[in-house]
Amino acid sequence: MIALLKKLQPRLYSISSSPKAHPGQVHLCVGVVRYDSLGRSRKGVCSTFLAERVPTGGAVSGFVHHNKNFRPSANPDAPMLMVGPGTGIAPFRAFLEERRATGAKGKNWLFFGDQRGATDFLFREELEAMQRDGTLTRLDLAFSRDQAEKIYVQTRMLEHAQELYAWLEEGGGFYVCGDASRMAKDVDAAPHQVIQTAGGKTAEETTAYVAALKKDKRYQRDVYCGPCQRLAAAVRGARQITISSDPPATRRLQAAGTGSGAAPLITAPNTARA
Ligand SMILES: Cc1cc2nc3c(=O)[nH]c(=O)nc-3n(C[C@H](O)[C@H](O)[C@H](O)COP(=O)(O)OP(=O)(O)OC[C@H]3O[C@@H](n4cnc5c(N)ncnc54)[C@H](O)[C@@H]3O)c2cc1C
Repeated sequence: MIALLKKLQPRLYSISSSPKAHPGQVHLCVGVVRYDSLGRSRKGVCSTFLAERVPTGGAVSGFVHHNKNFRPSANPDAPMLMVGPGTGIAPFRAFLEERRATGAKGKNWLFFGDQRGATDFLFREELEAMQRDGTLTRLDLAFSRDQAEKIYVQTRMLEHAQELYAWLEEGGGFYVCGDASRMAKDVDAAPHQVIQTAGGKTAEETTAYVAALKKDKRYQRDVYCGPCQRLAAAVRGARQITISSDPPATRRLQAAGTGSGAAPLITAPNTARA
């Protein structure tokens, strides 16, 4: 029976740390998948494995999958606008750490949101510290269930359309990351609206503006859903990674050795500058 089953597919997780800030480590920010279906409680395979079953000091098998199309601006002086609801914040924590570690002077603006501020404000202390030390120029938050009316990251983006457009005009890059199933399509529509209204452009001019941003790699998206089906080669090159912190904090995975990895699950961070 087991032989009939398809092999488990790798799960990808954005690296949420800069190697310059945490040499030899990769940090992940994993949302644990739990839901009820057909009268039973279900658990996501990999996310609950990482959160509940791997002990501190235990090992998982992982590999790095590079994403050439999602990385911080090569220009340290260029402003960066980052939109990362939920676990979509992961690469932006890494981008901010990278900018702080390299002394990049460009302004940084993060839009973050989730359901409730009291329980879902990921990396709160770190982000507040980054605001204090000047790494994070602006932080706009949207917790949808903290008030009667639903407020999302795109609501905040539209509220600040004029300033957001000014940052783009200064050469800023626009980055979006997150889980497609939990992120409203409007997140993608928002920049178009911002450019059209704040920039006073027609629909055609807006399309051309966004196309130019994409061409210059100033509009980058890492929007994901579901396990990855096409990483067999990377899986074969997987190495053993030691878990070095307890949940529920971001678990730190410390590279240790190069074994081929017998662990059934693969966690594969991407998006960091490696
Ligand atoms: C490029 C990329 C980057 C990613 N980065 C991150 C990241 O930084 N952090 C992060 O947490 N995740 C990230 N993911 C998602 C991650 O790879 C996994 O898909 C996620 O953790 C779920 O894996 P799992 O094994 O726990 O769940 P699985 O066992 O794969 O179960 C998930 C599946 O369960 C079903 N399901 C889930 N919820 C429900 C529901 N409410 N009702 C019915 N069915 C449901 C869906 O079919 C879903 O596909 C990323 C994905 C990609 C492709």
